[in-house]
Amino acid sequence: MKVMKFGGTSVGSAERMKHVASLVSASGPTFVVLSAMSGTTNTLVEIAGYLYNRNPDSAIETINRLEVIYNSHLTKLYATDEWRNTTREFLHEVFDSLRALTRQPFGQVEEKILLAQGEIMSTHMMTNYLHEQGIPSVLLSALDFMRLAAGGEPDLAFIKEKLGELMKAQTDAPLYITQGFICRNAYGEVDNLQRGGSDYTASLIGAAIEASEIQIWTDIDGMHNNDPRIVDTTTAVRHLHFDEAAELAYFGAKILHPTCIQPAKYANIPVRLLNTMEPQAPGTLIDNNRDAGSIKAVAAKDNITAIRIKSSRMLLAHGFLRKVFEIFESWHTSIDMICTSEVGVSMSIDDTRHLGEIVHDLKKYGTVTVDLDMCIVCVVGDMDWENVGFETRAMQAMKDIPVRMVSYGGSNYNISFLVREEDKSRALRALSACLFEN
Ligand code: ADP
Ligand code: ASP
Ligand code: MG
Repeated sequence: MKVMKFGGTSVGSAERMKHVASLVSASGPTFVVLSAMSGTTNTLVEIAGYLYNRNPDSAIETINRLEVIYNSHLTKLYATDEWRNTTREFLHEVFDSLRALTRQPFGQVEEKILLAQGEIMSTHMMTNYLHEQGIPSVLLSALDFMRLAAGGEPDLAFIKEKLGELMKAQTDAPLYITQGFICRNAYGEVDNLQRGGSDYTASLIGAAIEASEIQIWTDIDGMHNNDPRIVDTTTAVRHLHFDEAAELAYFGAKILHPTCIQPAKYANIPVRLLNTMEPQAPGTLIDNNRDAGSIKAVAAKDNITAIRIKSSRMLLAHGFLRKVFEIFESWHTSIDMICTSEVGVSMSIDDTRHLGEIVHDLKKYGTVTVDLDMCIVCVVGDMDWENVGFETRAMQAMKDIPVRMVSYGGSNYNISFLVREEDKSRALRALSACLFEN
């Protein structure tokens, strides 16, 4: 059995839902994971904002507006009054429950319940549409099997056991439908896997049912070898190692949620990124196989701050780096890139909420300088240190661009450059020309 996950854009209108229905009904035994219709989770977040700000009137207004939009989707989605009305009644109950939230104290528990409704609605709409079309399918509620353990991580053993039981009770169903993103926490309360978490749901289900493949369907054409918004000559990457996909996900290619990759990687289940608008296109396959010596893609991450601490006390001293790192740890700030020399260390961060405090604390140990508005540009591919030549090509591309830091050797799949944000486009174009266009 395979898993097919459709993102918010793929189920964003009645037409697109119908298209998804035709794709899943032709696909054999499948576990289908759906996001909320695009824009819905953002609207629910907006409603939560009003309720936190004790503004129930604006919350109600936004809820009512959303209900009107959903009702217009129902008009287009169903051919019969029977299914249209059944679904409208279900959605009306959902919207009534949202209106009820505006009349009671609002906190994190209520917020999680609110955010869960987008996926609950899209999956009901889809399952009812499949029923209307006579396509056998079963809706399994993610709230019955998707569970976080006490530490907040998904409880794969529980998910596997519970999902096994639920599927056994419905063995004649060729199509199982469920909600992405939503789950319960260790206390049984409604929770979620963070924004964009539907990919994670798909990966966890794939691992739990030992799927043959996990397909992530979205509205763009797989992972690209560079940012299509900046470089005109990008091409889709056909194959990536899981670790390459993870590097790309962290450094800006937003198409795959970074955490999503882990369960599939460990269970050794291939992930395929496919384009809903072009279902015949081959997409991008991600698995545990390496393409020896090949450079796959370039990605960039903005809003990076570089911090350097220089200290002659560091020379031949031990324990210096620990002291530096402890400062970042105490301010809950993670370090992305790091480069060291005998008398200095440079680090980059993307979360600057505690920059002032961090710099203040670092000044105990040395002279500190900060560079704002930087950008990490990373080259991803098979860069095992015994492969020769690729560093030269990447460096050659940067010959006219001021480079603040270079990091290589942290993983087998990445070489990163820290440059000024204003040089990002130039760097991406130069790397593209040197690495992919000859
Ligand atoms: P989905 O869940 O279907 O992936 P969302 O509704 O979450 O889609 O929105 C993601 C949007 O961001 C999509 O329209 C997609 O085209 C766009 N997007 C994602 N990654 C990239 C990227 N690397 N470059 C350009 N656009 C991207
Ligand atoms: N609907 C959720 C979000 O917009 C989860 C997802 O689409 O992956 O973040
Ligand atoms: Mg999405």
